[in-house]
Amino acid sequence: MNKRTKRILSGGLIFVMSFGMVINVNATTIDEAQQKADALEQQKSTAEAEKNSLNTQLNTILGEMEDAQTKLADKQTEIEEAEEALVQAKVEENTQYQSMKKRIKYMYENGNSQVIELLMESENIGEFLNKAEYISQISEYDRDMLDEFQAVVKEVEAEEAALQTEYEELEVLRDDLLVKQSNLESLLSEKNLQISDLEKQIGDNAALLQDLIAQAEAERLKQEQAAAAAAAAAQQAAQQQAAQNSGNSGGGSSYVPPVIDNVVSGNGQFTNPCPAGYVSSTFGYRDFDSSFHKGLDLAAPEGTPTYAAADGVVLIAGWSDSAGNWIVIDHGNGFVGKYMHHSGLLVSAGQTVTKGQPIGLVGNTGNSFGAHLHFQLELNGAPVDPQAYF
Ligand SMILES: [Zn+2]
Repeated sequence: MNKRTKRILSGGLIFVMSFGMVINVNATTIDEAQQKADALEQQKSTAEAEKNSLNTQLNTILGEMEDAQTKLADKQTEIEEAEEALVQAKVEENTQYQSMKKRIKYMYENGNSQVIELLMESENIGEFLNKAEYISQISEYDRDMLDEFQAVVKEVEAEEAALQTEYEELEVLRDDLLVKQSNLESLLSEKNLQISDLEKQIGDNAALLQDLIAQAEAERLKQEQAAAAAAAAAQQAAQQQAAQNSGNSGGGSSYVPPVIDNVVSGNGQFTNPCPAGYVSSTFGYRDFDSSFHKGLDLAAPEGTPTYAAADGVVLIAGWSDSAGNWIVIDHGNGFVGKYMHHSGLLVSAGQTVTKGQPIGLVGNTGNSFGAHLHFQLELNGAPVDPQAYF
């Protein structure tokens, strides 16, 4: 009897394990999709951070550019001012030169006409000055004045050249900034492409994840339906076998149990725990031996499901020499149900059950003669007639 129970229980375990494996295979794939989603989100947020950094750099460059443009404009103004100053200095130099020539000419009007001609024919100031060196009478005052104006011209020229150099340096700086700006802009545009690509991948992966979840759910439903169909087929086969056995033994009738749509029957506090069976012995004194029968016998083929007659907590689910594979359920309010002679048990001690929940399979174990469920209902320790509570 024990051996048979173990075989049925281990069969149940294998079923549970293979069922679990199918779910796990899908869960791994869903897991992978979920991990990919996390990784993509991570990559996107990294790319967003990089984009922000590039934007900050670009803003800095644009600020520096604005600064450089302002400096260039300022330098341009300074250069224009220097150019104006140079023009002014050259005008003053020339004015001095012309007036000096007039004075020299006047000074020597009646003197050596050769010297005057020599001076007047001078091509430029340098030549004139060289020639003038030979003219001892030349005015020291005019000479100094001319030197001074020439010095001013040179100074302004040098200043303008320096400004021009500074302007060119600023232009180089601005050109560098332009290159940096253009680089940053292309990096930003790459980053935007990367982000939009990541967003597309995130969307695709989310759709895939949804598909996988839907597939897993469909697979789960399919497994459930297959399991239910297999259980129904097994029950039917067991019933047929039992009917055949009772026919072969020659003694009993070939009882074929009805198909039960709703295992909970009647409006009573308890439901018939084996609605597919028939009453083979009622509660109370038996006619044939005047012994007292403490329960209700419900005969049914081996393997027919038995059900909890009411909500409760399983106190015992195991073996008894007299009750065979039995289940004892505390139904509350002083009621205890004892379900005996099972071929298989579907619940375990400590488990909560609800009214109509399958708990075992009808058998012929323990002190039993023919497959049946002995259902014994006790109120505060005393057996009562279960049928009075259906
Ligand atoms: Zn009995």
